[in-house]
Amino acid sequence: MQYIKNLKLEDLEQEIQQLGEPAFRARQIYKWLYQKNTTNFSDMTDIPGKFRVTLEKLFRVDTLDVTKELKSRDGSVKFLFGTHDGYVIESVWIPDDTRYTLCVSSQVGCAMGCAFCATGKMGLKRNLQPGEIVDQICLAKRSKLVKNRITNLVFMGMGEPLANYENIVAAMRIITENLGLQFSPRRITLSTAGLVPQLRKLGHEGLRVNLAISLNATTDETRSFLMPVNRKYPLKELLKACREFPLPRRKRITFEYILIDGINDSPDDAKNLVEILKGQRAKVNLIPFNPHPGTEFRRPSEKNILRFQEILFENHLTAIIRESRGEDVGAACGQLGSSCFAQKEDKRISVAN
Ligand code: SF4
Repeated sequence: MQYIKNLKLEDLEQEIQQLGEPAFRARQIYKWLYQKNTTNFSDMTDIPGKFRVTLEKLFRVDTLDVTKELKSRDGSVKFLFGTHDGYVIESVWIPDDTRYTLCVSSQVGCAMGCAFCATGKMGLKRNLQPGEIVDQICLAKRSKLVKNRITNLVFMGMGEPLANYENIVAAMRIITENLGLQFSPRRITLSTAGLVPQLRKLGHEGLRVNLAISLNATTDETRSFLMPVNRKYPLKELLKACREFPLPRRKRITFEYILIDGINDSPDDAKNLVEILKGQRAKVNLIPFNPHPGTEFRRPSEKNILRFQEILFENHLTAIIRESRGEDVGAACGQLGSSCFAQKEDKRISVAN
């Protein structure tokens, strides 16, 4: 039995034609799956009854089950989704005024081993299929807490999206497809730890989603300590790929920088950051480290956080301090994926432009 949501529209059209039905049935089914978010073929009333029975025999609709929904005091919701082979993956929904962001996972666990990240400690179990990526959105939308409200998507949950390249790109096509989930690419952000070859490839997919780089250090020594991927793709190579990334007009790359006390939060680090981002259309998200069980890293003092930001401001670099959300339900940065946008702009601090 296949999961129908693993299929891109053109693949579904082919399958449907092989079953002796016209290709347009695929577009009808797509609407039911993504726009009506239906769970059953029997609900698809514009599909002939006999063919609905055939579909039921061949395909399953949902790839995931909702295992748990945990509501945080701050309004964010952590979803635990069960996979067919017994794993649990996580997504976090973060309401913020009129913006409702879902932080989506791309893998079960992660092989990148970033020192500050709880997911990294799990190691990689497996890649998520396109349907499992898309279903995090479909199932969250059905939740009584979410009530269909998802305006933005960030691929910053468990896993390194670009390490699951083909499935992520296939999922993006379904998510942005007119007959699919209809998200504008402008409202989607993909975050990577810095897999340079895949980053370059992504630039040529024509997806036009926003790009975030989990940077976290300004020297190879510190970055390799925090993020082993840097040993393979050092800063110089990563930043070159960023400068050459075909950005749409007026777009900037977001550089995520987790501030860790005594590791990467000094004024010299801030000055280096200014230096290495010269010539790059960039903005910086500063994320004070969110301690989780089993880590020795600490959050910097408020004074150090503000001093770091001030240096970036003085050098005309946009820098926003983002605070974690959902800490009480284990949904915050580092409790899930490192740079998960279970974050919120800190309104106490002004933003330079
Ligand atoms: S920070 Fe991201 S890339 Fe690094 S180990 Fe965690 S999930 Fe993987």
